[in-house]
Amino acid sequence: MIQSLRGMNDMFAPDAERYEYFIETATAIAKRYGFNYFESPLLEETALFKRSVGESSDIVGKEMYQFIDKGENDVCLRPEGTAGVVRAFIQKKLDKQGGIHRFFYHGPMFRYERPQKGRLREFHQFGIESFGVASVLEDASLIMMLADILKALGISFKLKLNSLGCQECMPPYREKLVNFLESAEEYICHDCLRRKSTNPIRVLDCKNGSCQEKYVDAPKLADNLCGSCDVDFGVLQNLLRENGIDFEIDTHLVRGLDYYSKTAFEFVSDEIGAQSAIAGGGRYDRLVEFLDGKETPAVGFAIGIERLLELIKMPESTRSGYYMGTMDDEGLPIIMKAAQAKRQSERVVVEYKSKNFKNHLKGADKVNARYCAIIGENERNEGTIWVKDLEAKTEETVSLDTF
Ligand SMILES: [Zn+2]
Ligand SMILES: [Zn+2]
Repeated sequence: MIQSLRGMNDMFAPDAERYEYFIETATAIAKRYGFNYFESPLLEETALFKRSVGESSDIVGKEMYQFIDKGENDVCLRPEGTAGVVRAFIQKKLDKQGGIHRFFYHGPMFRYERPQKGRLREFHQFGIESFGVASVLEDASLIMMLADILKALGISFKLKLNSLGCQECMPPYREKLVNFLESAEEYICHDCLRRKSTNPIRVLDCKNGSCQEKYVDAPKLADNLCGSCDVDFGVLQNLLRENGIDFEIDTHLVRGLDYYSKTAFEFVSDEIGAQSAIAGGGRYDRLVEFLDGKETPAVGFAIGIERLLELIKMPESTRSGYYMGTMDDEGLPIIMKAAQAKRQSERVVVEYKSKNFKNHLKGADKVNARYCAIIGENERNEGTIWVKDLEAKTEETVSLDTF
C-alpha cells in the first residue's frame, strides 16, 4: 500500500474545516486592510532562495527540497513565501512602476526537516507583503491586522517587538556585538562561535541556555539605534498602545532571515507550549534591491497555519441547506430535478438510495442539513414534496412547483 511521504499530512475534517475557516477569516480581514490575493509557483530557481534567505541559514543549508529537473535546471520547492512574491514583484516591474502594492497569499511551503510534533515537511502559511510604504504606520497596521486575525479565531497571544536598526546603525552595533562575543568566547557554543563571523546578530536567538545567560550582558540593539530608527520605534509602540495591543520589547528577537531591518515582531502563544511562535514578520527594505530590483521599502508577516489549527475556536456549527431523498426508485429522476433547481441557491445533498422516512431523517442529521425533503409514492402522484425543518421541528407538504 502506498502511503504519504514522511512529514506530509493529509487533512481531513475537523482539521480541514478549521483550515478552511482560518483561510476564510484571514482572507476577509486582509481584504479589509486593502490587500489583494496573490499566487506564485511552488517551484522556483534554487538561486532565488540562496540569495534571499541566505546561504548561511539552516533553511538553505540543510532544509531545501532541491533537485535538478529534466531540463537540467536547479530548482527548489519554496521553503517560505516572501522570496517568490518579491521575485514576481520585480519580474512584473512593479518596483519601476512605483506606488503601493499590497498582497496576501497562502499555501504550502516545504522544508526537509526532521519531522516532529508541530513541524512538518509540507506545512502551510498565510502571508502578507506590502511594498512601497516606508512609514512605520504600515508596520503598525500589519501588526494590528495580525492581531485582528488571531482575535477573530479566538486565539490568545503575546506580541514581542524589536527594532533591528538600519544600514546606518546596524553596522556599528554589529561591531560592538562582535567585540563582546570575542570577550565571551569561552562561554558560548560552537554555533555561536561560527555565527560570530558569518552572521553575529543571529547569536542572540541561540537556543543554548548558557549562551542566553551570557547574552543578558550583551549590548542591546534598542540602545544603539540611530535617531530615525529610534523615533520610528517610539511611534510604533505608541500606536500599538493607543490601539489596545499589548507587547513586550524583546531585544533578542532577531529574524531568521538576513534581509530584515527596523521593525521585527513575533506573536507567541502559551497554548501550544511555552512561548511558541505562531507568526512573525517585519520590515525588509533591502530585499527588492538585493534581488536586482529598484530599492523599495517593504514589510510583511507570515502565519504558520498547522500550529494554530488546534487553537482555533470555530463558531458553533449550524444546520444548513437540504438533504433530499425518495422512498422508491421511481422518484429518483424527480428528486434529481428538484435538487438541481434548489442547488442554484442552497446547499443540497441527495441520497441516491430509496429509503424509509426514518432512515432519511438519520441521513439528514448525518450531513447536518436544516431541511429533510422526501418524495414518496403519494407525493410522486400528487406532484408534491414532504419537507421537514429539522431546526424548527415543523413539517409540511408543498407543491413541487413552489418548492
Ligand atoms: Zn537606524
Ligand atoms: Zn550559542
